[in-house]
Amino acid sequence: MRIHNFNAGPAVLPLEVLQEAQREIAETAGSGMSILEWSHRSKEYDAVRFAAEADLRELMGLQDKDAWKVLFLQGGASLQFAQIPMNFATTQKPGGYVITGAWSEKALKEAEVLKAGRSLWSAKASGFVRVPRAGEWSAAPDLSYVHITTNNTIYGTQWSSLPDCGAVPLVADMSSDILSGPRDHSKCSLIYAGAQKNLGPSGVTVVFLRSDFLEHANKGLNAMLDYSVHVKADGIYNTHPTFAVWLMGRVLAWIKRQGGVSAMQAANARKAALLYAEIDRTGFWRGSAEAASRSLMNITFRARDQALEAAFLSGANERKLIGLEGHRSAGGMRASLYNALPHAAVETLVAWMREFEARHG
Ligand SMILES: *Cc1c(COP(=O)(O)O)cnc(C)c1O
Repeated sequence: MRIHNFNAGPAVLPLEVLQEAQREIAETAGSGMSILEWSHRSKEYDAVRFAAEADLRELMGLQDKDAWKVLFLQGGASLQFAQIPMNFATTQKPGGYVITGAWSEKALKEAEVLKAGRSLWSAKASGFVRVPRAGEWSAAPDLSYVHITTNNTIYGTQWSSLPDCGAVPLVADMSSDILSGPRDHSKCSLIYAGAQKNLGPSGVTVVFLRSDFLEHANKGLNAMLDYSVHVKADGIYNTHPTFAVWLMGRVLAWIKRQGGVSAMQAANARKAALLYAEIDRTGFWRGSAEAASRSLMNITFRARDQALEAAFLSGANERKLIGLEGHRSAGGMRASLYNALPHAAVETLVAWMREFEARHG
């Protein structure tokens, strides 16, 4: 029996896609072989990766192939933390980082290894309960880029729109909210996301890269860490994580069948509204993030009486609601409501919250 999976990542996938994988695993696309057995240089795999790229470009609204390059890389978002400053920052022209959580802190740390990172603003003192308001930070012209984390998976905050950085290129880690709703991606110069939250399984990291940004990249890097090597190799310099790309392609096709990113946005807003309304209903619960910064993807909350949280979580597990423990650095509860999480999962969670409050409130 399928349970309600609120894990932060790897995370819930559409049941339809898992069933499709089950049907296709031994013989994929009528090839007489499994996708797991195909060469990454075969025409069958080319069809898979080009279709995934085309769907991603369409859903992101970044179809211009000259202006935007798309790469399917490995090493997770965590390797992008290092690869971005290697390619684009220098000590004289560092990357600027807006620190809204543990992932942006890690990104800055990798730039600091190269003596090429600068913090522009930090929410650390507040416990990362919000993202900055307009005017609280600025993009100095001596920066090679500004880096933001659009959704803070651990603390449950999210940028509601992308900031304006003037002439300074914007780099965005969208690992935990990519394709959760429409967004003006043309404001960015580099976008990256590990697939395992909203796009597919772990093992592949999607990178969108503007060609004019790449023209200014540092030279002399090791091949695997050099974006231009991957671009020159038509996106396939070495062996892809072929199954992860295939499954991501099935998830992208599923998103399109649901009606695309605007349909994702509508469903995500309904799920989040239902849960936030319950959190705010009586004061028994308390949302962890400031209201204006609340995430639609990762919803963090506490019980007013924190001593009750362990009982709430173990009762949740008994009701097949899993993955609701907050990150070890934040405590409390976190419900990850990614695209593939069915509405019924949130209804079941809210019913348990009400039952629990009736018993302990
Ligand atoms: C999960 C996550 C990461 C880390 O991803 P890995 O693929 O494990 O390296 C980075 N940034 C954000 C916003 C995340 O949610």
